[in-house]
Amino acid sequence: MKETLTTQIDKLKICLEKKDNIVITVHRNPDGDAVGSSIGLYNYLKVNHSNVNIIVPNSYPKDLHFLDGDDNVINFDTHTEMSEKIINSADVLFVLDYNDITRTEDMAPVLQNSKAVKVLIDHHPNPVLEADIEISDTTVSSTCELIYEVCSRLDYHDSLPKSSANAIYLGIMTDTGNFRHNCNNPRTFEIVARLLEAGAEKDMITGQIFESYTKTRLGLMGYCLNDGMTVLDDHNAAYIVINREAINKFNFKKGDAEGFVNIPLSINNVYFSAIFIEFEQYIKISFRSRGQFAVNKFSELYFNGGGHRNAAGGKSNRSLTDTLNKFIEKVKEHSDEIYY
Ligand code: 5GP
Ligand code: MN
Repeated sequence: MKETLTTQIDKLKICLEKKDNIVITVHRNPDGDAVGSSIGLYNYLKVNHSNVNIIVPNSYPKDLHFLDGDDNVINFDTHTEMSEKIINSADVLFVLDYNDITRTEDMAPVLQNSKAVKVLIDHHPNPVLEADIEISDTTVSSTCELIYEVCSRLDYHDSLPKSSANAIYLGIMTDTGNFRHNCNNPRTFEIVARLLEAGAEKDMITGQIFESYTKTRLGLMGYCLNDGMTVLDDHNAAYIVINREAINKFNFKKGDAEGFVNIPLSINNVYFSAIFIEFEQYIKISFRSRGQFAVNKFSELYFNGGGHRNAAGGKSNRSLTDTLNKFIEKVKEHSDEIYY
């Protein structure tokens, strides 16, 4: 592990001494890495601190609610007053899997006012948020990988609790698309080996995420492939649209389209893929690429978002037609950058 990370973890150890009120936060629309890192850390810390809480800005998909500790997660959207109180009395505030306070949206002003020591643990590029302790590394697979590095150095337990191992495994598995991308560093697999030794239930977690689809989700997938997908053959790009009609027809629930954005990348010569989901208030967009094309820059420039080079998110407040027209226009402009 890099020297700077070791130094930051040493600082964290000192900072946590005699601190009771600890709050763990993640970005809005928490994904597997956000849920895994927060619950993994929570399960690790709670033995030594009397008041540890996880506060998420809003709800997350049903499939992600199976970890031990999940019942303790507080939703800011539905328990705003209680969340504000807890944040206001925090001594230490963890910022996990995001590095820009605006990614928590409505929760941002409360976090901004907090006097707590801020500890950032994240793997996204270009941190905006200034924290007192920054454990930030874009070369790791996931925030969960960094949570493992932190926990394994804190010495609270003789060995990593199984409940933390499961949570950390979930984040590494989901952020690497089940060990397909972002995991060429042997360290990721060393950590996975340690997680399995600690009792991580690999098959159970795989089952929860990849073998628990509903029939309607598969129906929606069929729709996306047959009707919702357009391949821009001349530009090595493809996109999927889930419009209002499809949302209603398939009784779309948050998380139902999770991972669908990757499907077009399995087409020969498609290196850039996007999915547009027409929610009532805005259009949620996800971008993925294989190879050189930096989708985080593309999203930042044109769709109010960001993320990693090969996986980013964004949004649009314009109509679906305008949004798609803009997307196609920008794909054409960047066509020569889209290659493997
Ligand atoms: P997803 O497409 O799964 O929503 O997000 C893919 C990646 O991009 C994740 O790492 C996520 O944290 C990041 N991301 C998603 N939406 C945004 C956004 O609006 N802003 C930034 N900076 N990153 C985002
Ligand atoms: Mn992540």
